[in-house]
Amino acid sequence: MADNRSLIAAYFKQQSELGMPDIVFSPEFDIQSILTPSPRFPVFPKFAGTSTAKAPTAKYSAPLPGSPSRPRPAVAHNRAGQPVPNEVPSPVGEPTPSYGPSDGGTKRVLLAALYKETRSCVKCPLGSSRTNYVFGAGNAEAPLLIIGEAPGADEDQQGLPFVGAAGQLLTKMLAAIHLDRTRDVFITNVLKCRPPQNRTPELAETTLCAGILERQIEIIAPRMILLLGRIAAQAVLNKNEGIGVLRTGMHDYKGIPVVVTYHPAALLRNADYKRPAWEDLQKIEAILKNSH
Ligand code: URA
Repeated sequence: MADNRSLIAAYFKQQSELGMPDIVFSPEFDIQSILTPSPRFPVFPKFAGTSTAKAPTAKYSAPLPGSPSRPRPAVAHNRAGQPVPNEVPSPVGEPTPSYGPSDGGTKRVLLAALYKETRSCVKCPLGSSRTNYVFGAGNAEAPLLIIGEAPGADEDQQGLPFVGAAGQLLTKMLAAIHLDRTRDVFITNVLKCRPPQNRTPELAETTLCAGILERQIEIIAPRMILLLGRIAAQAVLNKNEGIGVLRTGMHDYKGIPVVVTYHPAALLRNADYKRPAWEDLQKIEAILKNSH
C-alpha cells in the first residue's frame, strides 16, 4: 500500500506540474488504473488524448440535454442483481490511512483510497437500488467543501454530484462569488446513493453514510464548509432546527467555520430565497478572503 501511495503521489505531482486539473471522481475514474504499479503513468480516461501542454481552464460543463451519455464502464452486479460500478476488492488487510497534514497530492491520494474503499458500499438498501455511487467531485485541496443532501436522478446516472438543474444553478452561484466549481471547491452529499424518487433521506441512511462524509471532511480539511439545505445542515451539525433558523449565524464543525444556506433546488422553486441565499454567499466570500 505504501508503494501504491508513493506511486500515486508521484503521479499527481507529475500531473500537477503538467497543469492538469484535479480528480473528478466519477464512474469513469478507474482507481485501479493508478493503484496498479505500471512502468508508465496512466492518463485518466477523461483526459486521454489531451495534450500535456496545458489543462483546460473552465473545466466543468454539464452535458447538454439530449447529448449522448458518456460511455459506462463494464458493470458488475450487486446482490439484488442490479448493476454497480466497477467492483473493487474490499480493503481488508490494508492499513487504514492516517489523515495527517497534507502535502502535494496527499489529500487526493487519501480521497482516492477512500473512494476505492467505499464505492461498492451496500450497507443500506440504497446501495442496491442506485445506478452509481456518487462520491463527490472537485479539488481535494480546495478551501471550500460544499455538502448537499443526496444524488438525484441525473447524479445517479452520471455518478457525479450536482449535475442536474440544481447543480447548474449552484455553478452559477459559485461563479457569482468568483469560485470555479472544479478548481475552488469540492462538492459532495450527505448520502452517496440516490434515495428512490428523491425521497428525503432516512435517519438510518444518513447514519450509515456519515462515516464516509466524516472521513472526506477530515482528509480535505477545508477552510470552510457550506451546507446546502435543511437535510445537510441537520445531519452535519447534528441539530433539529429548520433551515430558516440554521442559516442565520455561523456554525462550526470540529473547528471549521460552517455556513448554511438554502438548497439550490429550493431557490428554483421559490424566488424569495434568492436574496437571503445571496447574503449567505457573500458571507462565504468574506470568510474565504479573510482566512488566507
Ligand atoms: N441535490 C443534492 O442535494 N445533491 C445533488 O448532488 C444533486 C441535487
